[in-house]
Amino acid sequence: MKLLFILFLFTASLFGSQVETFRWKDGETYLSFLERNKLPLKPLYYKLDEDEQQLTEEIMSGVHYHVSKNDAGELSQIFIPLNDELQIHIYKHDKNYFFETIPIVSEMRTEAFVLKIDHSPYLDIIKETGSKKLATIFVNSFKSSLNFKRDLKKGDTLAMIYEQKYRLGKPFSMPRLKVAMIEMNGKKNFIYLNDDDRFYNEDGNELEEFLLATPVRNSRISSEFTKKRFHPILNKYRAHLGVDYAASSGTPVMAAGDGKIVFVGESRGYGNMIKIQHSDDYLTLYAHLNSFKKGVRSGFGVKKGEIIAYVGSTGLSTGPHLHFGLYKDKDAIDPLRVVQVATKKLQGREQSAFLKLKSNYKQSIDLHIKNETKFEKESNLDTTCYFNNGGSCVQDKLQDTSDNS
Ligand SMILES: [Zn+2]
Repeated sequence: MKLLFILFLFTASLFGSQVETFRWKDGETYLSFLERNKLPLKPLYYKLDEDEQQLTEEIMSGVHYHVSKNDAGELSQIFIPLNDELQIHIYKHDKNYFFETIPIVSEMRTEAFVLKIDHSPYLDIIKETGSKKLATIFVNSFKSSLNFKRDLKKGDTLAMIYEQKYRLGKPFSMPRLKVAMIEMNGKKNFIYLNDDDRFYNEDGNELEEFLLATPVRNSRISSEFTKKRFHPILNKYRAHLGVDYAASSGTPVMAAGDGKIVFVGESRGYGNMIKIQHSDDYLTLYAHLNSFKKGVRSGFGVKKGEIIAYVGSTGLSTGPHLHFGLYKDKDAIDPLRVVQVATKKLQGREQSAFLKLKSNYKQSIDLHIKNETKFEKESNLDTTCYFNNGGSCVQDKLQDTSDNS
């Protein structure tokens, strides 16, 4: 059974108070969280602008949030991540509670390891690193091109280089694969992350990824995706974790890909909403719907292009549009990067840049193989930054970690 929360990661002080870390429970909403903790709803929700109210619905179950109490035992500060760059910060000042969204301070590290196959790449990577995430991204990257079951032998070598964000001294959000190598039948096979943020094989052919159809026809994009943006007039950080398609009310909304409907219902911010789970941990979200197509229910399978609902303006919305969200492994990503992009073959200047990148990566993989680079376990003691407070870093010491997700 999963622990509902992970306690007492810190004993040192942050503004003279204790900091505890919890796991956001399944089914918890931002409003139920405030109520449960007896926090005032007015300043922390009803007085927020609509964009902020909508953002509070983006808190993902399972996310780790941090709470500190003052000497009187009251909640004085709460940090809740919205994605890997932005977090909600609730704080108490002079008897009043305030809400703001602030950047997450994280540190990016490039890491690498090499290992010899004993059972399978998936199991061996977990055994070496303790990380299902690393095992999954490695195996998925070769999924369409290699057959591990058939061609892999005990003693073959695999290597990967990836970037990992750290927050409070712990791995945070999905690692990002830079290069993966696996040797089979004496031949080294590579997958590379190119400068265009797409994955390519040895020949410069883009890997086939999850491709989406545009969910509405006859629409225009009225708002694009942004993970974190500073609004200079409002003097606030904002995020828009999806794409808005403006279209007239009643325009059919189509499933962007094959999958299973996992949610049909209503939320305060997103109004009538549908969520579809696709393969490879992709999830799509369709919000502000006027109505659902008759018969559309949770648990039903849908095909790409199938009508599921109709454009509307329900929830916190100023006019008819579809808010379309795309999540990979619970992280909101830009749908426009994935919608209707044909698989690419690199040519010309792009190709020569790729060849250079490829040869650099090959050299570092060779070096790691030569050095037999081992996965480095994170240290248990680390100095980290909660946030930058007017240039100075508000820090704390992490004393212990108990979660190896
Ligand atoms: Zn939107």
